[in-house]
Amino acid sequence: MSDLKTIPKSALNEWVQRLRRRFRVVGPKPKNGQFVFAEIETAVEMALDYPTTCVPPKKYLFPQQETLLRYHLDGSHIQAVIETEPTVIFGIHTCDVQATRLFDQIFSQGFADQHYRARREDIYLISIECMSPCTEHAYCHDMGTSHLPEAADLHLTDVGHMYVVHVNTPKGESLLADTLAEPFTADWQPIYDRVIAKKMEAFEKRLDFDVTELKELLHDGYRSPLWQNVGDDCLVCGMCTQVCPTCVCFNMVDEADLTQTEGQRTRTWDSCQATTFALVAGGHNFREARMSRQRHRFMRKGKYMHDAYGLLGCVGCGRCGSTCLVNITPINVLNALYHEQQGEPKVPETQEMVHEMELSYEDVTARSAGVAVDLHAGASQNNGRTLPH
Ligand code: SF4
Ligand code: SF4
Repeated sequence: MSDLKTIPKSALNEWVQRLRRRFRVVGPKPKNGQFVFAEIETAVEMALDYPTTCVPPKKYLFPQQETLLRYHLDGSHIQAVIETEPTVIFGIHTCDVQATRLFDQIFSQGFADQHYRARREDIYLISIECMSPCTEHAYCHDMGTSHLPEAADLHLTDVGHMYVVHVNTPKGESLLADTLAEPFTADWQPIYDRVIAKKMEAFEKRLDFDVTELKELLHDGYRSPLWQNVGDDCLVCGMCTQVCPTCVCFNMVDEADLTQTEGQRTRTWDSCQATTFALVAGGHNFREARMSRQRHRFMRKGKYMHDAYGLLGCVGCGRCGSTCLVNITPINVLNALYHEQQGEPKVPETQEMVHEMELSYEDVTARSAGVAVDLHAGASQNNGRTLPH
């Protein structure tokens, strides 16, 4: 159960300044017509009413590339590389917080990932309530992630000239300790309730079925001809997985220096959509066909991850749909699968749009450049350290 406080918006900058004495503070900033999470020095740099960011803030927990260990090739020395920096992620959306919950499960099971765990302990999450769906592709409301006030360390709800603050964890309390927070008096409750009720009116269901049916839908639809259509359209660019807050696959590479005395092991985000992702020794490729890789992506998000970790592997953020050059979106694909199983197959809007769509050079570069810009906006390099832009 959360403790509730309020904090005046006029105190936001002072709060950020105080946080910056103890932490790196990152927040949503406008950049090149998009929004990216990047380090901030003042509160006014943040756009807390941002729709969404191109790349999720998972880049601070699980950098796009990081060195895991360094060693001598004769085996005389092996040293794990673990560098963390106390960081406040300010203004994270609740869908992305839910993705962090999933990561916490994934990186803690079996052999706990010491790199992730160390970084996670140093990360403090301040989420913000979204007041309207961020894009046409977001279906967080269906996935149950649009309103999670008790998930992050602190959660802010904009109620006019104040924020209502849910204080959910001791880490959250420590962030508020020296701020200008004020008590949440009984007068605030009806105001808060009205704001949340209005927010809920803005979020409509976008799936034609209930999310509790998703696992069964995918299980029964494993052999659907729909996957062939989706696979035929996919360009194998991998952007859907690069922007996904729950995609966790990585590749590891060992590199030796030219003298063959020292080496290092690095890991880099990988994509299950890459042609060689499931290629194994002997030349067998378990998912050589595009349709099988697309099917795997949807099965993993909607079934396999839930089977393994008890949480769905999709939080409904819609980034993959916004980024896909040929408009393969979860809403369209899943609704088409549902209607097919209801005996009323309809061509997914995805397919209709793909065949009519002309991909202009501007469209392609705008979408892919957005990802590149965001990945360059900090913490995408080794161990959460922010590099110069
Ligand atoms: S699969 Fe798409 S909608 Fe779901 S969490 Fe990943 S990017 Fe967001
Ligand atoms: S973004 Fe679209 S085209 Fe690119 S790999 Fe993903 S589904 Fe295929």
